[in-house]
Amino acid sequence: MDLFEKCYNYTEPQEAMKTGLYPYFHALETAQDTEVVMDGKSIIMLGSNNYMGLTSDKRTIEAAKDALEKLGTGCSGSRFLNGTLKLHEQLEAELADFFHKEGAVTFSTGFQTNLGAISSIIGIHDYILNDSENHASILDGCRLSFAKKTLKYQHNDMTDLERLLERVPAENGVLIITDGVFSMSGDIANLPEIVKLAKKYKARILVDDAHGVGMVGDCGRGTASYYGLEDEVDMIMTTFSKSLASLGGCIASSKEVINWIRHKSRPFIFSASIPPANAAAALCALRIIRDEPERQKNLIEIANYMRSRLKEAGIPIIEGETAIIPVFTYDRNRTFIITKMLFEEGVYVNPVIPPAVPEGQCMLRTSYTATHTREQMDRAVEAFKKVFSQV
Ligand code: PMP
Repeated sequence: MDLFEKCYNYTEPQEAMKTGLYPYFHALETAQDTEVVMDGKSIIMLGSNNYMGLTSDKRTIEAAKDALEKLGTGCSGSRFLNGTLKLHEQLEAELADFFHKEGAVTFSTGFQTNLGAISSIIGIHDYILNDSENHASILDGCRLSFAKKTLKYQHNDMTDLERLLERVPAENGVLIITDGVFSMSGDIANLPEIVKLAKKYKARILVDDAHGVGMVGDCGRGTASYYGLEDEVDMIMTTFSKSLASLGGCIASSKEVINWIRHKSRPFIFSASIPPANAAAALCALRIIRDEPERQKNLIEIANYMRSRLKEAGIPIIEGETAIIPVFTYDRNRTFIITKMLFEEGVYVNPVIPPAVPEGQCMLRTSYTATHTREQMDRAVEAFKKVFSQV
């Protein structure tokens, strides 16, 4: 049997391309921003995670350029050996301070952060309890670990979480993992209840705040800060590829946990460190988020404005309070058609189909940027109205 047979027989994407509805790998011709150029025309970007609008900020670009010139294009090795720069140490110190934790450790991507943190902290006697909407990188981190059991509770359902906690024998370690702001639905984890349950059952908590940082909490400090529970959340994870306008990720925690990860995590030890330009851009973005809280305010204001305009127009959205607004399209084919029609009307959105959502609950994930304007939102709403009146 030829190993590649499945590849030769895999023609689904090509078939979708023939219908003109294939929405993936659509190239941008300009920088990630509130408006971009795609296929030679200007498009309002409602599909990016550039929440703070810092990917094209002059200061982050200058910081990256400066690091590039002084420190070169790459680190050519792991943090563990030759690949540690003073810049990485500075970034980790400021991240720890930002999250009000004793320490932080950086990885080369957000995905790798979850792989490296979960697989190193979980041992053969430990249980993992995952929210059912947790990100793929968390699930793969669990797979990479030697956990005794990885169990899933219904999304944000605290009764279900407690049912699972009751099943964990007292002598076993247990880690509850949840997204802070959920990437698809944009809702916020019920951390107050999770914290109560964790205390009752002596569990530890890891919050993936890839989407929460910048968006919620005091000066964008994320979901734990939003609830005033920074001391109760044991590990805070984030990525640099969203609000921090770069590439990389980090875990912030106690000094003992960080020390453990730095010496035990294979995705950390056996992979090259973040290139200077990326580390410098993330550090610059972190300082801007911390020092310019008006960005977070703008982001939430623009998302609330869009939310009320979409509702007014009768577009079926999922209610919420973050800068992720899902729009129901239900059927898979209809989702692709609407995505294409919106693009033709000058709006980019991300289609979400199974397995990311259950069959029949397809949606468009729309997300917003602190630098979006009301005028852009008004134009986008007109496009939504026109398209939804036709399909
Ligand atoms: N966690 C969550 C919740 C995410 O949404 C993502 C990226 N979509 C990641 C982790 C991985 O981050 P990165 O893309 O920076 O590797």
